[in-house]
Parts: sequence; structure tokens; C-alpha cells
Amino acid sequence: MDHSEILKWLTETDGGALEELWRRADETRRRHVGDAVHLRGLVEFSNHCARQCEYCGIRAGNTRLARYRMSAGEILECARLAGRLGYGTVVLQSGEDPGTRRGWMAGVVRRIREETELAVTLSLGERSEADLRAWREAGAGRYLLRFETSNPALYRNIHPPRRGHRSDRIALLRLLRGLGYEVGSGVMIGIPGQTYNDLARDLGLFRELDLDMIGVGPFLPHPATPLGGDAETGGREREPDEHRTSNIEHRTSNSIHNPQSAICNPQYEYGTQELRKEGINPQSEIRNPQSPQSAIRNPQFAIDQVPNTELMTYKVVALARLLCPDANIPSTTALATVNRESGRELGLQRGANVVMPNLTPPKYRAGYEIYPAKACLDETPEQCHGCLLARLASIGRTVGEGPGTSPRFRNRLIQ
Ligand code: SAH
Repeated sequence: MDHSEILKWLTETDGGALEELWRRADETRRRHVGDAVHLRGLVEFSNHCARQCEYCGIRAGNTRLARYRMSAGEILECARLAGRLGYGTVVLQSGEDPGTRRGWMAGVVRRIREETELAVTLSLGERSEADLRAWREAGAGRYLLRFETSNPALYRNIHPPRRGHRSDRIALLRLLRGLGYEVGSGVMIGIPGQTYNDLARDLGLFRELDLDMIGVGPFLPHPATPLGGDAETGGREREPDEHRTSNIEHRTSNSIHNPQSAICNPQYEYGTQELRKEGINPQSEIRNPQSPQSAIRNPQFAIDQVPNTELMTYKVVALARLLCPDANIPSTTALATVNRESGRELGLQRGANVVMPNLTPPKYRAGYEIYPAKACLDETPEQCHGCLLARLASIGRTVGEGPGTSPRFRNRLIQ
């Protein structure tokens, strides 16, 4: 499938043609990775973040968010629960948190590997080669790092580098591969300023990078970010846009106002002083006039704007499956957020073969608000688990056993 065919599918509106796309993706999924759905227990262990990503609700500039960092003991408890629930993998995810030290993280990974049968996946953002190497040696087998968009100008706009650092996620993905990790990446769909050509190139890059895991989801505007409207505008600045996902209730996080969830440890707070050291003025966010936000208000640019819809997400999941048939592809929480009723199931029936139930303890969950109104926010891990089993049974799929390594990775090892 070449660029123009990918583009054709991304812009396809005919229901019958799309049925054919879903059918082909589902058939390819069945042939290459089977009917088993692998469950990965997700632990969002820290929402501290040193970055200023324009899309993300836990960005450093969101000073109203109460920050938390789970202890090694708490993370281990979640891993044990993952084992008891029969999951094969635990995914440890966080903001890009300089307070997560190399040795501490290596110790956590080592203990999980010693005490459980679980595979460990990490998703901590852009870290040094020395960190990534140490964690690989400690027993982490997989790393998730979305490149977010393959358009370099758009990437620079929405994902500014930390002062004095380069931000080259594609180079990091290659480094991760070299270190022996199973490598996962992905993009958001419908970022303001993202065109159909950009998205088609993203899909081409999935194949070029020969990814083992591919995670995609709709971009969901967060009101405390530059791409979601900010405190002054309350998100009203944006033009109404019929393409935008409409069935999301925008609300601010409980964690902002609820003292009960102010669980941050002041010792570790990535606070105002650190922000200033990074060259960020937490009080006044200077906006880039060239930012993608302005693009979406300009109808000339907006014509080719990819919508952040559920349908577009299914198209990308299905095309990712056709382009990378042996990869593991999750039906993501962002998808379940735009369609709570059946988003997860439809993702699984249109190319996906993985689900990531949330194991983050309920008291921390609201604090990991990368976008608002996240699905499963109020559920306990056990409730999430029961709900997922019922959903899988309803579409005739089974629960995967063991670590669920991607066939792509296994084949590469044999070659
Ligand atoms: N700090 C880590 C983990 C970030 S959260 C990292 O940067 O890799 C994981 C993913 O959530 C991000 O890579 C991004 O693709 C997605 N995400 C963040 N904000 C989002 C938003 N507003 N809408 C949809 N997805 C978002």
C-alpha cells in the first residue's frame, strides 16, 4: 500500500468501502496475531513532568494540577495485582519526570521481574541512553514512545524541547531497538494543524520503523493547555468545528480543586523554580503565533485538517494493521473515551489485539489527566477487569496468556 492508497482510505466516506477496510483489517489481525487479546496492566506512576507539550494536560505549565509520584512499594503492589488478575504485562507510564532516577527505576523493574512472571513495558518519555540501557539490563523488555506526528514543523510546535536538549523521538526509537527493546510508537489523530498528508506519512513511518507495537488515539483537547483553550478563555477561544469530537464533556479535573487528592510530595514537586530554570514562566504562557492553533482558525489551512473523530481513529487502526500485520495494536483508552459504549470493541474488530486496563490506584487516577473525561476514571482495577472480560466475551474473543510478545519482534529475533 503506497502513500496515495493510504490517503484514499483516510478520505474515504463510502460506508460500503469502509466495511471492506474493516473486514480486511480484522481478517489480517486474525491471521497474524490470532483471536487472543493481550491485557496490559497500566500503572500511571507519576504525573510530574518537565515538558511543555501543547496537547498534554500534565504539562509542566499546568500549575493547578496536584502532582503525585507513587512509591516503589505501591508500584509493586499494582504489579502483584496484575499477576493475580492474569495479565502478562505491566506498563509503567509517567510524565517526563526528572525525579524518576535511573537507579530507582532499575530497582523497581528488577523487583517486578524477580517477584512476578510479568513482562515490563516502560513509557517515561525521552530519557538518556544510559537510563534506557540500565532499565533494559534490569529486565524491562519494551518501551512505548509515540512520535506524535511525522511532520517536523508540527512536532516542533506542539512538542517543544527541554531547554538545552534535543527532541528527536525517531532517533530514540532507533536507539531503543538497538538496545534490544520491543519498540512501540504511535500518533494522535486530529492534532490542530495535522493534514491528511501528514497522517498518511505517519502510517508510512510505522512501516518504515518496523514497529512492534502501535498505539493511536484521537487528540482530545484539554482546557488547561494551549491547544485546548486556557484558564482565561476556558476553552471558548476555539472556533466551533463540526469535525471535532463532540460527545466529550469538558470538565476540569477534581484533582485541581479537591484537597483530598493533593497527594504530591513537596520534596519532589517539579515546581515554579524548576520551571523557571527550564526557561518557562509558569504565570504567562507565551504563545507562538505560528502555532497549529492559529492554523485551525485559518480556513485555508483548516480545509485539509484531519478531524479528531472516532471514525478517523478506526481508519488509522485498520491501516496500521494492514501495513504492520505482525504488530501488537491496542484499542486505546482515548478511543474508549470518545465512544464509551463500544469504542474498545470496535477497535478490536477493526485491527486491534491488545487492551490496557488501568491499574493505577483510584486515589491517583484523576491526577493523570492527559486529556479530560478519560474513560474508566472512577473504576477500581477489579471493576475495569470485570468490564473488559465481559466486553471481550461479547465479541467472541479470548484473553491472551503469557507475555504476548509481538510476532514481529519474535520473527526479528529468529532472522
Ligand atoms: N511522558 C510520556 C507519556 C505521555 S502520555 C511520553 O511523553 O511519552 C502517553 C500519550 O498520550 C502521549 O504520547 C500522547 O500521544 C497521548 N496524549 C497526551 N495528551 C493527549 C491529549 N490531549 N489527547 C489525546 N492523547 C494525548
